[in-house]
Amino acid sequence: MNKHYIDLHIHTTASDGTYSLEEVLKKYRKKGFLAIAITDHDTVAAFNEFSQDYYEKMRVIKGTEISCRYAGREVHILGYDIDYTNPQLLDLLSRIKDSRVVRAKKIISILQGLGIEIEYSDVLELVGSENIVGRPHIAQALVKKGVVTHQQQAFELYIGDKGVAYIPKLEVSPEEVIRTIQQANGFAVIAHPFKSINLEDIHYFKKYGIDGIETYYYDHTPEQIAQLENICRDMNLLSTGGSDFHGYGKREKVGSYTGNAKIIEDINKVLSIKIEVKNG
Ligand code: AMP
Ligand code: ZN
Ligand code: FE
Ligand code: FE
Repeated sequence: MNKHYIDLHIHTTASDGTYSLEEVLKKYRKKGFLAIAITDHDTVAAFNEFSQDYYEKMRVIKGTEISCRYAGREVHILGYDIDYTNPQLLDLLSRIKDSRVVRAKKIISILQGLGIEIEYSDVLELVGSENIVGRPHIAQALVKKGVVTHQQQAFELYIGDKGVAYIPKLEVSPEEVIRTIQQANGFAVIAHPFKSINLEDIHYFKKYGIDGIETYYYDHTPEQIAQLENICRDMNLLSTGGSDFHGYGKREKVGSYTGNAKIIEDINKVLSIKIEVKNG
């Protein structure tokens, strides 16, 4: 099968990834990627260091992954090709960032209530340059303290969506997130839909102008992909795809996910600069 080398879902140390933007760019470029998108959780800070469209020959799409809530569940919306200096976008991201701090402190106090010796400062030590505090940082702190043996266990026992110390994030609506991304000249895509919504609910997102679905997520089965491809065709939505690379866990290897021609075709529909499809 031909490889197309496009990955539109990548985290850096600006949120909860383990590699800095520079390291990510080097690694993906070395693997021969044609295009990547940087999609840190609730921040666009990585682009303060790098604002060009290309890193050598690799197209670098400016993105973000914004958390919101729908039907009692957390939904992630990817924003692509955004103006990362847009004031409304920065305002929304700053509200979410502040709320993450409050939430992390609440999680820590629940953990303390369970008799676990952990302080907020233990978490803060692990947080990246932009102070986007995420559950992975809390999981890492719990590993470091020897409370759990690995991060996954921290999610299973404590901080996963069904865990005893789970606290949801700020109540931002999908409508606001989609509108804000589009106001910043970007397009909005539902990230990893099987993790967060019922597929029937895509109609709701469509009503608020969603542009696409992350059809080719790294762990989607062929059946799930086919299902999402059909929805995208019927509802006139774009299909995007990516690995959700964080630098650790199941996706620790750069380039373990290489995308496909359909993603390149769809992305070329919305980007003014074309990404050529190359085989190899
Ligand atoms: P947050 O944005 O702080 O809610 O953290 C979300 C991040 O935590 C996700 O992007 C994943 O990297 C990680 N995560 C969420 N649930 C789990 C889980 N059950 N196991 C491992 N990592 C998870
Ligand atoms: Zn993450
Ligand atoms: Fe996500
Ligand atoms: Fe992600």
